[in-house]
Amino acid sequence: ALGIDPQEAGRLGLAIFKVAMPWPLEPQAIRDFCTGLERVLVIEHKRPLIEEQLRSVLYRLPDSQRPYIEGKFDRDGKRLLSDIASITIPEMAAALMQTIPEGWDTSRATAYFDRVGRAGEAARSNATPTVRTPHFCSGCPHNTSTVVPEGSRALAGIGCHYMANFMPDRHTDMTSQMGGEGIPWIGQHWATDEPHVFVNLGDGTYSHSGSLAIRAAVTSGATMTYKILYNDAVAMTGGQHVESGQTPAQIAQQVRAEGVRTIVIVTEDTTRYANVKGLPGGVKIYDRDDMEDVQLALRDTPGVSVIIYDQICATEKRRRSKRGLRAPDRTRVIINTEVCEGCGDCSVKSNCLSVEPVETDLGRKRRINQSTCNTDLSCLKGFCPSFVTITDGEAAWEDQERPAFSADGLPLPETPSLAQPYNVLFTGVGGTGVTTVAAVLAMAAHVDGHAASSLDMTGLAQKGGPVLSHIRFAREPDQISTGRVPPASADVVIACDLVVAAGGDALNLMDADRTAAYANSDVTPTSEFIRNRSKRFESDLLSARVKRQATEFDTFDAEALAMGYLHDAIYTNMIMAGFAWQRGRLPVSLRALYRAIRLNGTKVDDNMAAFNIGRIAAADPDRLIRQQDPRGDVPEQTLEELIEDRAARLTGYQNAAYADRYRDIVAKVRAAEKPISTDGKLTRAAAFYAYKVMAYKDEYEVARLYTDGKFAKQLASQFKGGKLRFWLAAPMIAKKDADGHLEKKHFGPWMLLGFKLLAKFKGLRGTKLDLFGYTEERQHERKLRDDYLAGLERITSELTEKNLELAIAIARVPDDIRGFGHVKDDALQAAKVKEAELWKGWPEGKLPTTKTTLIAAE
Ligand code: SF4
Ligand code: SF4
Repeated sequence: ALGIDPQEAGRLGLAIFKVAMPWPLEPQAIRDFCTGLERVLVIEHKRPLIEEQLRSVLYRLPDSQRPYIEGKFDRDGKRLLSDIASITIPEMAAALMQTIPEGWDTSRATAYFDRVGRAGEAARSNATPTVRTPHFCSGCPHNTSTVVPEGSRALAGIGCHYMANFMPDRHTDMTSQMGGEGIPWIGQHWATDEPHVFVNLGDGTYSHSGSLAIRAAVTSGATMTYKILYNDAVAMTGGQHVESGQTPAQIAQQVRAEGVRTIVIVTEDTTRYANVKGLPGGVKIYDRDDMEDVQLALRDTPGVSVIIYDQICATEKRRRSKRGLRAPDRTRVIINTEVCEGCGDCSVKSNCLSVEPVETDLGRKRRINQSTCNTDLSCLKGFCPSFVTITDGEAAWEDQERPAFSADGLPLPETPSLAQPYNVLFTGVGGTGVTTVAAVLAMAAHVDGHAASSLDMTGLAQKGGPVLSHIRFAREPDQISTGRVPPASADVVIACDLVVAAGGDALNLMDADRTAAYANSDVTPTSEFIRNRSKRFESDLLSARVKRQATEFDTFDAEALAMGYLHDAIYTNMIMAGFAWQRGRLPVSLRALYRAIRLNGTKVDDNMAAFNIGRIAAADPDRLIRQQDPRGDVPEQTLEELIEDRAARLTGYQNAAYADRYRDIVAKVRAAEKPISTDGKLTRAAAFYAYKVMAYKDEYEVARLYTDGKFAKQLASQFKGGKLRFWLAAPMIAKKDADGHLEKKHFGPWMLLGFKLLAKFKGLRGTKLDLFGYTEERQHERKLRDDYLAGLERITSELTEKNLELAIAIARVPDDIRGFGHVKDDALQAAKVKEAELWKGWPEGKLPTTKTTLIAAE
């Protein structure tokens, strides 16, 4: 970085001693090295372990031979290097600059600091605010087990459940060391009015040392509930067996022996306990649906109580199923996209990342990502009639014919020179195989006879978090002094995930004069989507951030190609590698790459194919058939298209007269807007939302949307055969839960016939014979429709240039009203308040003062 070569270092009197073992420091060699030096600068990450030992080792040297020791502080006592974090290369370089005597050419050092300064500034000012926070795997038992009742909180522990810390709704914090779970509460409970806490404790930790924490807690007399999260694996570190191999019954016996009086077991399948022997007396078994009630009861139980939450780790379940160690789950879920309202209730209830957004002409809806779903089925708790389960269906997508392609005759690019170390950065989502592709590239370098190092910054990121894989190539191993790509030194960034690539950590490694960047334009939703149903992941905005830091930038939908050509998103990363190679940005030969893929030994043909698809995408994309983005790829409809599309839908919904009513009101809005504005925003909003409120999804409509052929097509694209079950809360017969909400029940395949019949009676809608129309929900929906259309009438008669913006805001209010039953009703109440607030400024055009801050959607 500073441009000091070994000769110059010799001239300046600089020498380096690399400590092999930091503690205990071998005294003789280091004393010999330091004797007679003027100054020693100790560079070590975090605490001054070496520095303090060095002081004592050199203490007895005569004054004339004992150097000044600097490190965490300089000789004047000013802070030089951090003692709490890893030290970056620019920090080291800056410390060295202060220490090296004058009289050397600092121009390269100055240029270096300019370069890293620019990269650092970009990382600060240009980084996306969107963060890829690690999250439980799809179907993880902790999605349910770590929920706490309102008014309670939980103390965190070590294990995957630690991620509850990142989820605001889990009210979980204060992580302890392994075996210390809940111990802070032993000291705290005396000094607070808070009567109780929950404590999360994994089964691996329980076996390791957590049982001792429970013993201490019992002795202390504190009131607390341990949730022993029995997922039958040490999941966070890769699914190892729990050493003790204790069963839930044995854990229950042990905690009873420790003095815990109240012990319950909660599980997703109570039938597993039908013949279980050895449970201590009084231990009750509950279904996970009762988790809330169980927790409410235990938080009022004095002393230490224990919930053993028994549900296998979802990833381990998938692994065991693949290896034939357990029968795969037979039931999968599909969401009828036409029925879905995009309310997000299923995401909130399941906390599951496999419930993904899918963009449609009617707005954002939900779909189940069948590749990542681990069939936990808790999304079924989403309150709507969109959910269907299929038992014993075959995955249709696996049998679909793969499109043919050929990479024959593609030009062979010149590969980059290795005169200097060459730096590659992969950015990706944890758990999607980025690190494997990085390892394959490093292996290819070895096959070529070159040196390569591969360093993965992952940690908890394996669980859907950000992954940065640093790969460094060189002719000789000793040219690679550090595994990390230094700041402003990436030669190429392969952005398998744009959110990570546009983050500060990645931007800091890029240099606008050096780095080429290639990005997968498909953005996998982050966990924020679970809490914010409107969260947008705008590929273009993220791309712009990366592009600003790159000398060359290109983007394409690698995930759509992976899905379309190889039926698995896992190949996205290898496609990206192929793309970068074909652009001449990877310093490995084609022969070595193919060999490395073979040596990797997993899905060799498919990985070869993926690499070649990437090459074609880079060199001759017209050879590939454009593939549909599974999360929706809908071009915006023109206003005419939008109006006609909705009118046609309303004809199907009710009849042509109903569609004409729609056309009339939209035409009125259009006529009123035309003299004022040409962008048609108001008309578009009215066309969109007038349809939404007119086509409210009552029983006839849901029945029609299951039988008009679209659902059959959606189903056939995903499954073959199998027994269908429809999950519905039929208003006339459904029971109510403790909150007064209707409970969903499943209905067999005969329901399709029922739907067919019901759909035929849509003509009764709104008449005296419409039995469903008498429910409160339908009355609210009709009123919403009529009020909204009346509101549009008023807008058309009083519209001015001044109140146009307010008119658009009013016309968009129904966007917030989504879902079914109590979910929709809650949304409706909130929307009414907002609408009333907006109307207060009408017709003057005064917008409410509390404006929402608009942050660029990404
Ligand atoms: S590895 Fe298992 S326990 Fe850990 S987050 Fe994934 S599903 Fe949950
Ligand atoms: S309507 Fe709501 S709960 Fe139902 S599938 Fe759609 S987003 Fe999920």
